[in-house]
Amino acid sequence: MQKLSFVIGATATGKTYFIEHHFADKRAVVLNVYDYQQRAYDEAGCDDWITFDMQFRCLKRANEMHLHDIIAELKKGNDVVAEQTFFKAKRRIAYIDEIRKAVDVEIEIFVMCPGDDRWADNIKKRELDDDLKSFKAQAQRDIEFPNPAEGFDAIYEVVDEDIILRMDEEKPEIVDQARKELAEEAVRITKEEEERRKRQELLDSMNTRPFWHYCEVCGRKEFLTAEDAHNAGWDYPPNIGVFGLLSPRTCGDCNMQQTLWWKVNQQSIPLVMTGELTEKERETWERIKNEPESLLDDNE
Ligand SMILES: [Zn+2]
Repeated sequence: MQKLSFVIGATATGKTYFIEHHFADKRAVVLNVYDYQQRAYDEAGCDDWITFDMQFRCLKRANEMHLHDIIAELKKGNDVVAEQTFFKAKRRIAYIDEIRKAVDVEIEIFVMCPGDDRWADNIKKRELDDDLKSFKAQAQRDIEFPNPAEGFDAIYEVVDEDIILRMDEEKPEIVDQARKELAEEAVRITKEEEERRKRQELLDSMNTRPFWHYCEVCGRKEFLTAEDAHNAGWDYPPNIGVFGLLSPRTCGDCNMQQTLWWKVNQQSIPLVMTGELTEKERETWERIKNEPESLLDDNE
């Protein structure tokens, strides 16, 4: 029977080094989740700046690809070593459930638990910003030590040169709780994806449907398609500016010096201060913030 070995642990606990040495004489395929995370970020077109939501989706995508490849290699008959962070029981259980469904395999897990000196040394070598104290605090707060109930055949603690079998008492409630959380998470993700899809559909429709164009300077309003408005000289998203973000909203006869955008950009800090707006500017700002929905109905 093939063997799947997970190697998990906090940052700079020596996972990669351990894999290189412990599995050196074994013919196993090594799949490191960090490679998949990098690929997921690249695919999503992320550079330095990333929202929490996008990060969650990239990490989820990375895990899906990683899991997919683990199963594919096991099915080919290969032994696999998988490097992961895997702090939470539910993340491990999500993997194990899928793997057990797909292949008959022996699953072991190595948890990196280096002594302080070794860990501090690794942190120094890698020139990381945080110190041992903060990495340790994070690990103690976030890592749930694997329990046999999760479906592991063997669980090992790796303390420097020692590999110690540690099979705690089975706690099936961990698995029940994890499955419950995973199910809730799946519902939430489906809902969010649906909302994102609807939002995108609405934004796409704004390229062709007629919608209300409000000139914030002279107060004129017209029900036009983006193309007709653009030809008539309007400065309006989606052709000029972005829905929901401050920029001029003007008809072909008015200029941008009298817009809210202009006023805000004369300030030392170009932020909208709602307290300092006139009634008319406040109305404009509310409408812009709520685009494109605010342009669909005649709200007068
Ligand atoms: Zn105007």
